[in-house]
Amino acid sequence: MDCLFCKIVNNEVPAKIVYRDDLVLAFEDINPQAPHHILIIPQKHISTINELTSEDNELIGHMVQTAKLLAKELNVADEGYRLVMNCNASAGQTVFHVHIHLMGGRRFTWPPG
Ligand code: AMP
Ligand code: ZN
Repeated sequence: MDCLFCKIVNNEVPAKIVYRDDLVLAFEDINPQAPHHILIIPQKHISTINELTSEDNELIGHMVQTAKLLAKELNVADEGYRLVMNCNASAGQTVFHVHIHLMGGRRFTWPPG
């Protein structure tokens, strides 16, 4: 399958990996939008949020728990951080392997652009 993030999971494309376990992988975004910008992805391929099933509930929960732990490690947990998941074109999804953006280290505005 020609999926960039699957290639990162399989070590076929290099990335600055900050966390890996049996279910998920976390690495630095190549084009950071904040002083800290990490992507948390499932190791298994899921294209978009629309493809999630109830069988993925534990996996998605684990991705969010991983983001929480990384935010604490990065020392942004107390000041605040943002988690983002983009789904399909209008939301700006560009890589079709689901991921959570963890961004921290600056102040964010609302509504997002
Ligand atoms: P999205 O627009 O939500 O699909 O986000 C995809 C993200 O993947 C963007 O923030 C990109 O900067 C990031 N990205 C693309 N290629 C790479 C790569 N090779 N390594 C790390 N991050 C990447
Ligand atoms: Zn993939």
